Amino acid sequence: MSKLRFWLATIIETCLRMLPIPARTGLVPVGNPGPDSPVLLTCNFDLTVRRVKRALQGIDCWLLVANSRGVNVWCAATGGLLSNHDVISVLRTSGIEKKVNHRQVILPQLAATGVEGKAIRQQTHWRVIWGPVEATDIPAFLAASQTKTAAMRQVTFSWRRRLEMAVAWGFPISLVTAVVVWFVWRQALWPLVALVWAVSLLVFLAFPLYERFLGGGGKHRGFVIFDFGQYGVPLVLWGIVIAGAVGWGWVSGALDGVYVLRWGLASLVVVALVSMDLMGSTPLYKSGLHEDRLLQVHLDTELCKGAAFCEDVCPRNCFTVDHTRRLATRPRADACVQCGACLVQCPFDALSFSTPDGGTIPPDVIRTYKLNLMGKRLQRAEVGDQ
Ligand code: SF4
Ligand code: SF4
Repeated sequence: MSKLRFWLATIIETCLRMLPIPARTGLVPVGNPGPDSPVLLTCNFDLTVRRVKRALQGIDCWLLVANSRGVNVWCAATGGLLSNHDVISVLRTSGIEKKVNHRQVILPQLAATGVEGKAIRQQTHWRVIWGPVEATDIPAFLAASQTKTAAMRQVTFSWRRRLEMAVAWGFPISLVTAVVVWFVWRQALWPLVALVWAVSLLVFLAFPLYERFLGGGGKHRGFVIFDFGQYGVPLVLWGIVIAGAVGWGWVSGALDGVYVLRWGLASLVVVALVSMDLMGSTPLYKSGLHEDRLLQVHLDTELCKGAAFCEDVCPRNCFTVDHTRRLATRPRADACVQCGACLVQCPFDALSFSTPDGGTIPPDVIRTYKLNLMGKRLQRAEVGDQ
């Protein structure tokens, strides 16, 4: 694929990033691979597949594209769309077993929330090695005998990623805004579209400021907490805007039905935009993910054998394993984002979640229940039912 086509496709797919965009699944030879070449696996989100292939340029290897329903690795694995079944399926049906003389497959680290390395090994005899978070780190990972630095394990919300999210958020909503406003208030179309883009960019590019000034640190790191209940804040905000618009219309003498309808629709679009809960990305109110953010990882030191899977898959580098005592420690526990990857991978079930009311969510529940795309893992009542 030429550079121009790559970047054009990247821009289009970033604009449509909220939609699943599936690539063809199966086995892709990269370069001139042989029986000893490494085997890597990724999801079938087209943008990811193209980025991984680009990162692998100049390396001879086999790339397996597993069916994640066209969704990116972290969302698919956490949401149950990239599971043990999908990994086993591509290992067994792609023909890779006849192409190589080893049984080691490198999975993206962020798949660790939904794919169990131990289960894959038990069912297929393939050993799962957790690769780096970013595809661009794969060459360095391979060159270092498939070992990762702490930086390769860490998820960061860099300005590039935030910009991508702003585009992915701003594009569809500005499109909807344009269609709605075209029928009711055509003169305001461009200013409102510009406003949607400005708000989208502001919301995402200002993320570090929430963390520093409003996030509260610890459990709520990175998220603003105006806890008016999950859906109250957008309505309160919309009410204030409408009241302000009606007040202004009264004072200026412009108040009539059309005036209220226009301002009502325009302000509804903006309020809906800034309060939409996309996997906890709303800066305005307590999103579905905040319930999970009150969970604490609990380590049972009696069960821990120092196997270090937790250290290998934690995207926040919370763990350090003391190899002399064969025991995990959590010196950076505050950085935890409750993704559950460590619980899913610990082969001895030494990790669980503690709830604020003193309850426990065992690893089997986390392995079974998945986050949906609105960030809901499971209801408290369901926890009680376990
Ligand atoms: S918590 Fe589990 S994965 Fe982590 S070191 Fe202990 S046994 Fe290994
Ligand atoms: S410690 Fe927290 S962030 Fe790290 S893997 Fe476990 S749940 Fe995820």
